[in-house]
Amino acid sequence: EIVVLRLGHRPERDARVTTHVGLTARALGASGMLLTSSDKSVAGSIEGVVKSWGGDFWVKTGVSYRSAIKKWKEAGGVVVHLTMYGINMPERIGKLREEYRVKDIMVVVGAEKVPGDVYGLADYNIAVGNQPHSEIAALALFLDWLQDGKEFERAFEGGELMIMPSEHGKSVVRKQ
Ligand code: SAM
Repeated sequence: EIVVLRLGHRPERDARVTTHVGLTARALGASGMLLTSSDKSVAGSIEGVVKSWGGDFWVKTGVSYRSAIKKWKEAGGVVVHLTMYGINMPERIGKLREEYRVKDIMVVVGAEKVPGDVYGLADYNIAVGNQPHSEIAALALFLDWLQDGKEFERAFEGGELMIMPSEHGKSVVRKQ
């Protein structure tokens, strides 16, 4: 199981990015997202997507990052903090895939300034390239590498709508 922990979101500036972090997490194989912010609008729009498109992705708001990380580790899970200051992903991906085979993974992404203790609390500080970019891009690449493309085989049960993939145009069918 993979869960994403999204830190430090300022409602007025980061809501859209946080929504995209959640949608990306859902689309690429995570089971849920923990939010330190108590912004309910983000949870609402992701839950709307789940209702339409299926799966059982969940969002929990108003979470304390310290206790969430501690609880995860106590339950035997591994915590991976994505940061440009970390060890570059290709150097650690083999080890991380071994961990993922037997343990649950929490992926931590920041917004603006990441609290200093996160670097120590995490089991791994991983860079998706040692250059500054985006939490959405970092998360997408990390999830894909961790699961080695298997995320695309996942089915989204339930929901109301389903895409019939087409070369040209848009085909959406209503599930029975
Ligand atoms: N400057 C902030 C800091 O030093 O704490 C980080 C701001 S960045 C826009 C927001 C988040 O994107 C980071 O907390 C990190 O999770 C993610 N991120 C950005 N670039 C990254 C990279 N090269 N590798 C991994 N994660 C990255």
